[in-house]
Amino acid sequence: MKYIGVDVGGTSVKAGVVDEAGHILVKGSTPTLAKRSYEWVIQDIADLCLRVARQADVPMEEIESIGVGVPGICDMKTGIIPFCTNLGWHDVPFVSELQKHIDKPVWVENDATVAGYAESIAGVSAGTQSSVFITLGTGVGGGIVINGKPYSGAHGIGSEIGHMILKMDGEPCTCGNYGCFERYASATAIIREARRALKSHPESLITEACGGDPDSINAKIVIDCAKAGDATAMEVFSEYVRALALGIVTLINAIDPEVIVLGGGVSVAGDFLLDAVREAVKPHVFYKGLPYADIRLAKLGADAGIIGAALLGRR
Ligand SMILES: [Zn+2]
Repeated sequence: MKYIGVDVGGTSVKAGVVDEAGHILVKGSTPTLAKRSYEWVIQDIADLCLRVARQADVPMEEIESIGVGVPGICDMKTGIIPFCTNLGWHDVPFVSELQKHIDKPVWVENDATVAGYAESIAGVSAGTQSSVFITLGTGVGGGIVINGKPYSGAHGIGSEIGHMILKMDGEPCTCGNYGCFERYASATAIIREARRALKSHPESLITEACGGDPDSINAKIVIDCAKAGDATAMEVFSEYVRALALGIVTLINAIDPEVIVLGGGVSVAGDFLLDAVREAVKPHVFYKGLPYADIRLAKLGADAGIIGAALLGRR
């Protein structure tokens, strides 16, 4: 049996035909054009599914199900997407709408949750029963896998680990609260802190690396300057790592997973990030001397969304 996995993003929709083992046979994409009404977007998603199946030379009869990852929350009991802020969706009857075009079982899940699920089947946490995937991008997303299954809570609103409150009355968050984990552990946090640091340390390498324009700073510039030994960049980076590590410690205390997986844009920093995070977590683990989650870097990259969504049908 084969599965179709769909990764719905704010600018593009990606879909692929995936086999039992989580390998993508063929993939394709189409622009989301999210400003249109949801019916049109879903019609395009259906067309894309049919197109990739045709390109893979897999007849629709051999497709077991269609799984979809969306940047929002999903209620699988009703097939309705209550909130998907990036797409401006509110109470969209996604499953029934997609089934108007394709008569197959349809699974919908949060995109970070499916990415974590993909890593737990075909990626860096393959073979484990419990893991927490953390996407370090513009925000921070989470994908929790428990007993080998994606876990999004009793009401579909779990695994929003970016909004665990790390600091009471801290930095304001887009969610309306203050001090959320993602205000300190996202790429956005690195950029914000680098801009602040440049005000008192204009001599930093970052100034030259961003062409003197603080608006051009991105996380990679700051991390590259830290790797090069620039003191200001190193300070920003180590504060970032400290915040990320404390969030990870909280997750370990709450869930005690086998593996914590770091993905998303910031994780491209590789071992430089991984080694620093492992070191920073160690002194804060509650039960000293006992084993705890191995921290690893994600390995499926941008394909995780397609693979994890596809394999939702395997559960
Ligand atoms: Zn928040």
